Amino acid sequence: MSKETRSFQTEVKQILDIMIHSLYSQREVFLRELVSNASDALAKRRFEEIQDPSLASKEEKYIRLIADAQAKTLSIVDTGIGMSHDEVIENIGTIAHSGAKEFLKRATDMKDNPELIGQFGVGFYSSFMVADRVVLHTQRLGSSEGTIWESSGDGSYTVESSQRPEGCGTTITLHLKAKVDDDDSFQDFTEQWQIRSLVKKYSDFVEFPVKMEITREEPELDKDNKPIEGKSKTIVEDQILNTQKALWTRSAKDIKDEEYNEFYKHVATDWTDPLAKLHYKAEGTQEFSALVFVPGMLPMDYYHRNTKWGLNLYVKRVFISSDCDQLLPQFLRFVKGVVDSNDLPLNVSRELIQKDRRIIGIQKALTAKILRYFKKLLTDERELYEKIWDKFGPTLKEGLSNEYQYKNELQELALFRSSNSEKLTTLKEYVERMKEDQKHIYFITGESLDRVSTSPYLERISKKGYEVIFMTDPVDEWVSNSLSEYESKKLQSITSEDLDIDSETDKKEQEEKLKNATSKYKDLTEFMKESLKEQVKEIKLSTRLIDSPACLVSGSNDPTAHMERIMEAMGHESPKTMRTLEINPDHPVIAKMSALPDDRKKLWADILYKQALLNEGSSIPDPAAFSKQISELMVAG
Ligand code: ADP
Repeated sequence: MSKETRSFQTEVKQILDIMIHSLYSQREVFLRELVSNASDALAKRRFEEIQDPSLASKEEKYIRLIADAQAKTLSIVDTGIGMSHDEVIENIGTIAHSGAKEFLKRATDMKDNPELIGQFGVGFYSSFMVADRVVLHTQRLGSSEGTIWESSGDGSYTVESSQRPEGCGTTITLHLKAKVDDDDSFQDFTEQWQIRSLVKKYSDFVEFPVKMEITREEPELDKDNKPIEGKSKTIVEDQILNTQKALWTRSAKDIKDEEYNEFYKHVATDWTDPLAKLHYKAEGTQEFSALVFVPGMLPMDYYHRNTKWGLNLYVKRVFISSDCDQLLPQFLRFVKGVVDSNDLPLNVSRELIQKDRRIIGIQKALTAKILRYFKKLLTDERELYEKIWDKFGPTLKEGLSNEYQYKNELQELALFRSSNSEKLTTLKEYVERMKEDQKHIYFITGESLDRVSTSPYLERISKKGYEVIFMTDPVDEWVSNSLSEYESKKLQSITSEDLDIDSETDKKEQEEKLKNATSKYKDLTEFMKESLKEQVKEIKLSTRLIDSPACLVSGSNDPTAHMERIMEAMGHESPKTMRTLEINPDHPVIAKMSALPDDRKKLWADILYKQALLNEGSSIPDPAAFSKQISELMVAG
């Protein structure tokens, strides 16, 4: 096939433009990206060869760096899986996934942090930070036809067929940019020491050897093995620049924090240090090692539906699969790292991973270990644990609502804000603070701390000195449904109809009070019931409130108003459940209202209902009509 010129996808053009013109600091990360790609390609080849032994060869799997100072080129060669003509166009000319758009959105951040690049699946393009021309020669495993791809990063590239003399694998040749006079940060990437130190810094644990021909001078020796003054010889030898030691196989006490951090960045394609790590070797019935991390920030696409999660699976140090979501339950999907099993066969297929009981065993053991580790952090390193909770608490809480087997552990780990203080509290600490006469654990769900902490539902309960847990994550609605009890104390929503806050003596007193009020306001409640019959299930006098005249409450088995709003936001239109309007017989509005003529009473009832809607955080159906009603009221004086 003759040489063909093609245009980059628009997003790729923009990305290249940023790479070439804006990203200067730490250009050196291009090498990490290209070595990582080469290492992935080698791992993929090994995996395919295990799956299909007819493809297997004895050829050594390695990465080679070739620097040519005269030609000002640096080549990254691998004996990996290579790419077919179509794969080159698909992988290098276009970006199908969401990475490109995210990259462009975050381009300004990247000026300061080009390490971010790897996250977007655009690592290859980082070559254009250091090169003004890039040539890629690749050949797919099992094919005898190769492809040369070439571009100067200016909007187009060429592809042509050409057999790769070395067979399958990929060679990427960077024609390095020349130094611009005023560029003090210029690094010469053909210098041996420079390359060696970059490989050490970023790619030391890459599992395949990264080789380079090293030229060095050695003094010539006389017959007694003593150096001869002024005489030296040039030695050219192949050296492996990385130690290649899978970090998780080493003993934790010999590993420095920096090594862990660099390894994390490599497996998680993150640029920030992790918050916490767990390095664990399981022995006995299940033999596996795990090195897992809690990221320092939410991954870019964390809340996207198709976001990848799970750990990388190795079998006896051979890479099998990335993002293996069978290794952890969904509520630990933010955990990144590696699991290396000694029990699984090397040719384990993806289908087998789905159902293999050994994988399920690893999942169980590792989950228990991670939860125990979190418990330890909660006890011994509260500040760090709160940082983890702050980022990943909502995810951990998902487990409370859908993983019954971990409920006991997770309910100890959950942290909440409450009316007690700004600080986060566990349920245990809440129970310890409970008043002697307090029967239940009280909570309120809602959109935000501001909303719930100023809610009228808190009026009387706060006066009694009872603490209320504020649940403001969307997932809390599900959490509160499944967490009905803790240490034999019922969790009770303070917006529920059957709120139970009074002691037996208080209860009698309140009942008495209500009895009197009920007969006093019998006509009013009947009137309101009729006039609001389309909106509410019932009108009830209650002692829940102090300063507010009315509020809406849900039945104990009905969804809360907040839950209905969440479902609506998620696009689930369902008929609204009717709630009960509770009115406060002590409030002057109620006394006044009962003496009004019917048409005024009707207006007031409507306004009370809408106020109650606003107080629970819902929107009112017709704000314009409401504001008109308020004006009417003001005019009436
Ligand atoms: P990412 O590696 O994050 O997917 P890149 O832009 O670095 O993004 O690479 C895009 C794709 O090109 C890779 O996913 C891979 O399929 C392919 N690729 C890159 N380098 C190589 C290589 N050395 N050998 C084989 N395939 C490669």
